[in-house]
Amino acid sequence: MDEKVKALLERVKGTASYAADAAADSARAAGKKAGQMVDVAKLNVQLFDLNGEYNDILRQLGQVMVDTHRGQAPEGALVTSLLNQADEKSGKIAELKNRISDLKQAQTCPACGAPCGKGDKFCRSCGGKL
Ligand SMILES: [Zn+2]
Repeated sequence: MDEKVKALLERVKGTASYAADAAADSARAAGKKAGQMVDVAKLNVQLFDLNGEYNDILRQLGQVMVDTHRGQAPEGALVTSLLNQADEKSGKIAELKNRISDLKQAQTCPACGAPCGKGDKFCRSCGGKL
């Protein structure tokens, strides 16, 4: 492997990622607050935008990799900033996905108590009418 790219990857490995923990904490907090008022469609729009922003950050990181390979060493601050942004975005994406899945499982079967989708007409577990 390219020595310069290898050095860049070592630096990437050196930046610790706490996004998963942070996402779990905020998802728990968001779960408590998630009212049925929040529209799933609105959250899906936010999720779509966040995914786009996340992909843009990944594209920039890819460009840094190619630039490094071609001998244009990037500033360390740029790489760290992009990695932090990637952590932040993926944390928010995980949080939104949790909120959406919480909201979608908004009704329980009156017969067996299984969680069911908001628009379901029949229980996924026992087949009873909802
Ligand atoms: Zn049921």
